[in-house]
Amino acid sequence: MSFDHRIFNFAAGPATLPEEVLKQAADEMLNWRGLGTSVLEISHRSKEFMEVYEEVVQDLRSLMNIPSNYEILLLQGGGLGQNAAIPMNLMPLAKNGPKADYIVTGIWSEKSYKEAQKYGIANLAASSAAEKFNTIPPRNTWKLSSDAAYVLYCANETIGGVEFPDVPDVGKTPLVADISSNFLSKEMDVSQCAVWFGGVQKNIAPAGMTIVIVRKDLLGHSMGITPLIWDWSVQAGTQSMINTPPTFSIYMAGLGFKWLLGQGGVKVIEKRNQEKADLLYQFLDQSSFYENRVEKQYRSRMNVTFFLKDESLNAEFLAQSNAAGLVALRGHKAAGGMRASIYNAMPLAGVKALIEFMRDFERRA
Ligand code: PMP
Repeated sequence: MSFDHRIFNFAAGPATLPEEVLKQAADEMLNWRGLGTSVLEISHRSKEFMEVYEEVVQDLRSLMNIPSNYEILLLQGGGLGQNAAIPMNLMPLAKNGPKADYIVTGIWSEKSYKEAQKYGIANLAASSAAEKFNTIPPRNTWKLSSDAAYVLYCANETIGGVEFPDVPDVGKTPLVADISSNFLSKEMDVSQCAVWFGGVQKNIAPAGMTIVIVRKDLLGHSMGITPLIWDWSVQAGTQSMINTPPTFSIYMAGLGFKWLLGQGGVKVIEKRNQEKADLLYQFLDQSSFYENRVEKQYRSRMNVTFFLKDESLNAEFLAQSNAAGLVALRGHKAAGGMRASIYNAMPLAGVKALIEFMRDFERRA
């Protein structure tokens, strides 16, 4: 089978996957480990699949250096499912009734904030909505509550292209991080947050699995209404198999983790991600034809948003980039403009090809 036809895919998620991973999955699709069947067709409780599951958890633990007092849950329902699961599992920990603080820096944390209102008091502790989500409110302006069960923030806003450079300090209150779009893209000190969560469909694997990394002392306090499948302590007690897990996504994540380990791990990929993002932002900054509107220190390394100053050229830009094999550059409808998502699997060559195209488009415009 030839992979030579592959284009550079800048989609925000589901997103481009490493070619080696796709090749391996294709090669072993019909006869996995000599079983005469694919991995997709066997029981999730079989010895063979349990080996895959154990290895996935082990490899993630080693890639992120996850301490032993954290549980790793492999769930379904996406980031949006966790927007409900988080308050249901954690809000009862608040001393004066269910309550949590939310930091809103874009569309995704805004969705988390709105969902939480169904389960208790969601306090809007900070928001950059007035700045069109092009920045992060300075830490000293956040109005955190003294009786919140947790503080939630989105480490990387996929739509606006805004990323926290560091984990914010919120004192003793457990911090919850949505890392859907920068999972494994850079080193993260797991002990700095009580909960990390995100879908795998951007940086890791095909859609279908949501990973939750939760400090064990926070388990066991869920609301009575919590669906079994999103009750973290139930899932922790059943190796995330209270029902049928997303076996394809788990298997693919396993291949993705091996690929990442083979690249040298998170530290190496972080350097490469930084290099890719720097190249693209440097190009945007020297241009009078394109612009990025995010405050510099908060620019995302994963989702680079940009606008053509003359927006009447948008359709032409998209048609020509597509024809040049640089696809899925249209920005999210809520943000407009363009967006190049350059996750772990996007090679440097893809970013260079994009810059080359953009330079040429500008010259011809
Ligand atoms: N949070 C962020 C930062 C996201 O980018 C997304 C998906 N684009 C979500 C949450 C929602 O995730 P899902 O689609 O897996 O429910």
